[in-house]
Amino acid sequence: MLFNFNNTYADKLDGFYTPVQSAKVPKAKIIKVNTELAAKLGLNLNNLSKKKQTEIFSGNIAPDGASPIAQVYAGHQFGGFVPQLGDGRALLLGEIIDDKGARFDIQLKGSGRTPYSRAGDGKSALGPVLREYIVSEAMYALGIPSTRALAAVTTGENVMRNQQYLPSAVFTRVAASHIRVGTFQYFAARGEINKVQQLADYTIDRHYPNIKQEANETENPYLSLLIAITDAQASLVAQWMCVGFIHGVMNTDNMTVSGETIDYGPCAFMDYYSPDTVFSSIDRHGRYAYQNQPPITQWNLARLAETLLPLIDENTEHAIELATNALDKFPEKYTEHWLAGMRAKIGLSIVEENDLALINDLLAAMDGQQVDFTLLFRNLADLLQGQEQEVYAQFKDASLFKVWVERWRERLSHETQNTDESIQLMYQKNPIYIPRNHKVEEALEAAVSHADYSKFEVLINTLSNPYQPQEGKEEYTQPAPNELSVYKTFCGT
Ligand code: AMP
Ligand code: MG
Repeated sequence: MLFNFNNTYADKLDGFYTPVQSAKVPKAKIIKVNTELAAKLGLNLNNLSKKKQTEIFSGNIAPDGASPIAQVYAGHQFGGFVPQLGDGRALLLGEIIDDKGARFDIQLKGSGRTPYSRAGDGKSALGPVLREYIVSEAMYALGIPSTRALAAVTTGENVMRNQQYLPSAVFTRVAASHIRVGTFQYFAARGEINKVQQLADYTIDRHYPNIKQEANETENPYLSLLIAITDAQASLVAQWMCVGFIHGVMNTDNMTVSGETIDYGPCAFMDYYSPDTVFSSIDRHGRYAYQNQPPITQWNLARLAETLLPLIDENTEHAIELATNALDKFPEKYTEHWLAGMRAKIGLSIVEENDLALINDLLAAMDGQQVDFTLLFRNLADLLQGQEQEVYAQFKDASLFKVWVERWRERLSHETQNTDESIQLMYQKNPIYIPRNHKVEEALEAAVSHADYSKFEVLINTLSNPYQPQEGKEEYTQPAPNELSVYKTFCGT
């Protein structure tokens, strides 16, 4: 038996899903099984033939103990409320518990139609499956909370996307849970307050058990839940910002209550620093641009808060006041997380009041200069080692930056750690390898057009160790050549 399922969502939350069997596919073939993750989850792949693995990860057979369900949810998509979305091409097979006692969902994505498919075919194209594999694993390796990739399998079928037939694939995703802001919204919009409460209780038990343990009669567990999710999301989006990650579709149905990054669609890492960067072709107005991600997170949390109001207090005005107070703390919490991350990125270990201005001034000096966001911070560490040329060469006009370097050096002199320690901190906190858009595209193109997965494999391996220079991997550290630098990601999922 591969999974030792223990299915609480299916068992406890009747009315929150529809049981569905996955579609059969004609010619399943494994692209990759994440053996490192499997081992971490205590899954015994060794006892399972390749054929059986293929059947399970393609959805051709349901593994023993599975209770496949499509979860229902709603969501604000680009600001407009859609009262019913749900798993239109995904199935939760069940939950497992790892050896540390942590519970994970095992989900198939691209496994066929469900009652929530609307006009969709329930399938996933190969390209987006590989993109999610690459980027979610890269996020995990960077230390950022994320769903993970357990397997990817081609199906032998084609799907139609943008008037083209493309090979399709099934992705196996591992997540702390798939409860979304939109899951709360679905029941709240229908006026099913009991179900909102049931979901809130379930979420507390599963993700924030301390709330119940700490609660006494005077405390308000649902307000505490809102505060806990606000904290988790403030921390998450701060980590995105520190590595230049742009999610692309921060709809409320794509935001977890666990605080993990989920639903890698038209996501991408910013190459040169520009706060209004947008990659997604569907984000025409830049709603989910790089710099908008923190305020959008707060906006999404406000939608969550609305669903919890009747649980927070019977008196609506009082409930609104309590929830507003909780949400108003978001910018402060976000800044605290972001500042901690950015301080480390420039080698600072102690806290000084002017650090915020110092960091903002660095970003201002980078803006409009086509400075590579990832390389810059590695180059700053190099600069402290006496290699100044590369960092200055990144700027079209380095005059502002030069002035900033002097201020930074002065600030570093206040540190209790020595310069070597600052340099080490910077090398530890600033990745050298991120999923660069042209490298992701190159790997996807070889796989989709030529069934050549070698570039995908090398990319995955390189990104699994993002802070350590690796021999022969220089091409993965560099920005795209100019002719490739105008980049768009398409939602063609
Ligand atoms: P996403 O863009 O992945 O966040 O998906 C938004 C909604 O559209 C979710 O309810 C998905 O389940 C649904 N969806 C996306 N692609 C498909 C598809 N190919 N077939 C059915 N439903 C889909
Ligand atoms: Mg989604």
